[in-house]
Amino acid sequence: MDPDPGGDFINSAIFKTTVLTVTFSSLFYFKTQKQVVNFGPPATEAAPVSVAEKKEITPPKKKKKKKTIYLTFDDGPNKGTKNVLHIVEQEQVPVTLFVIGEHVYGSKYQFAIFDSVSNNELFEIANHSYTHAFENKFNRFYQLPDSAVKDFARCADSLHLTSGIIRTPGRNIWRTDSVSCTDIKTSTAAADSLYEKGFKAVGWDLEWHFNKEQRPVQTPEEMMNQIDSAFAKNKTKTTDRLVLLAHDQVYIGSDDSASLHSFIRRLKEKDEYNFEQVSQYPGLHP
Ligand SMILES: [Zn+2]
Repeated sequence: MDPDPGGDFINSAIFKTTVLTVTFSSLFYFKTQKQVVNFGPPATEAAPVSVAEKKEITPPKKKKKKKTIYLTFDDGPNKGTKNVLHIVEQEQVPVTLFVIGEHVYGSKYQFAIFDSVSNNELFEIANHSYTHAFENKFNRFYQLPDSAVKDFARCADSLHLTSGIIRTPGRNIWRTDSVSCTDIKTSTAAADSLYEKGFKAVGWDLEWHFNKEQRPVQTPEEMMNQIDSAFAKNKTKTTDRLVLLAHDQVYIGSDDSASLHSFIRRLKEKDEYNFEQVSQYPGLHP
């Protein structure tokens, strides 16, 4: 018997070749694995995010809080009110009309216009007194607090106005639950009496003035700048809220109506403003 049957085999060429092949193969295998470990992505690294997923995790851009504008028109109904009605309907903005009792009953035409705006949700009707301060006798009107109260009450009763919201003719007077302000101090007693009797007076932060020919003084662009400035300098009675006063009779002509239309469009296009009716103003909520 051969004492070492494998001895010859170990020394044989086949055995040596096999050993060498296995050694090189193993070295190649481990080298490849090492490369994987060194250059592959670490186990803890997050998987690549697809474009769609990226969109989801991007924090939404914080939307700027809108400021509120209250568009108010005094002295109607008159020949300009119909143009105001058409523009407001086209642009679908809520507004407040401070009407004069005498004007509503002044003609069939004016009563019909009053009827139209009263039945339109875009319009809120508020009280601008029955006689417009005894037909513009402002000093006398405000020297007689009881008569002033009666004049506003007559307007409210005859037109069935229930909100108690008023605007004083010829005076920028505020008597809300949060703002109290009187531009001409001789009117203070009348303003206080009105508030005591349950009326709430809202004045204005900015006026679109008109000249002797009843034409608008500022251009729509100037109005936009004045609004920006009032907000920027915090010159409104309530921060981020602006009450704008305009007058129906200014928008009788087509050029002037076009100015009003252009102004409202610009306000909307700016996308920085909400529009509310005056009853939504702080301190005037029922
Ligand atoms: Zn007026």
